[in-house]
Amino acid sequence: MALCSAMAFAQPANSPRAPAAGTEDEAFRNEAAAQYRKIVAGLSARGQLDDDEVTLERVRRISRGLIVAAAEVRPETGTWSWEVHVTSDRSKGAFCMAGGKVLVGSALVKRLDLDDGELAMLLGHEIAHAVAYHRREATRSSMDADVAQEIRRAEIAVMQENEADRIGMGLAYRAGWPATSLVSFYDKLATQEGPRTFNSSHPSAQSRAAMARTIAQQLDKQPR
Ligand SMILES: [Zn+2]
Repeated sequence: MALCSAMAFAQPANSPRAPAAGTEDEAFRNEAAAQYRKIVAGLSARGQLDDDEVTLERVRRISRGLIVAAAEVRPETGTWSWEVHVTSDRSKGAFCMAGGKVLVGSALVKRLDLDDGELAMLLGHEIAHAVAYHRREATRSSMDADVAQEIRRAEIAVMQENEADRIGMGLAYRAGWPATSLVSFYDKLATQEGPRTFNSSHPSAQSRAAMARTIAQQLDKQPR
C-alpha cells in the first residue's frame, strides 16, 4: 500500500539544529516545498499532473474543508501555502508534505473505489501527518546514532500512523464527514491488503479499521 509515501523520501542529511522553533519550522517547510516542486514538475513534464479532472475536482473540493478544519485545530496552518494536485502516475499513493503540499494518485482512489467520505479520511490522514510535523520527528530520530535506531524508527512510524489516523479522523469529522465513512475507508483498505505481510513500520489495515471504529464511536458522542 503506497499511502504515506512522503515517509519514503530521502531524509535531509544532518539538517542543522535551528535555534528558534519558528525558524526551524519554516526551513523544514521550505525544504518540503522545493522537493514538492521537483516532483510536480517531473509529473507535469510527463503529462501526468492533474490529468484526471474528475478526481482533481473531488480531491480539491474535499481538501478545502479539511484545510479549514486544520486551521481551526492548528491556527498556524492557516498561513501555509497549501497546494493540492493529483497524478495518474500509478507509483504514487497519497501524501501531504510539510507546509501543506498534497499529492494524490488517482489510481489509488479508483482502485479502492473511494466515495467522498472515504476520500476525506485518506486526505485527513495525510494532512494530519503535516499538521503534526511528523516527518521532522522521523528525521530527528534517524539522527540518533543508536544501536536500537532501526527499532526506534519503526516504533515511531507506527506511532505516527496511529496519530495521523486519530487526528485525520478528527479533521474529517470536523469538516462534516460522517464517522461511519471514515471506518469504511479502512475496511476497504483491509480487503485490498490481503493476508498480513510483515511490515513493522505500518499497522495492518485491519487493526486500523478496528481503531477507527472505536474513534468513530467516541466522535459520534461529541459535538462537531
Ligand atoms: Zn500515514
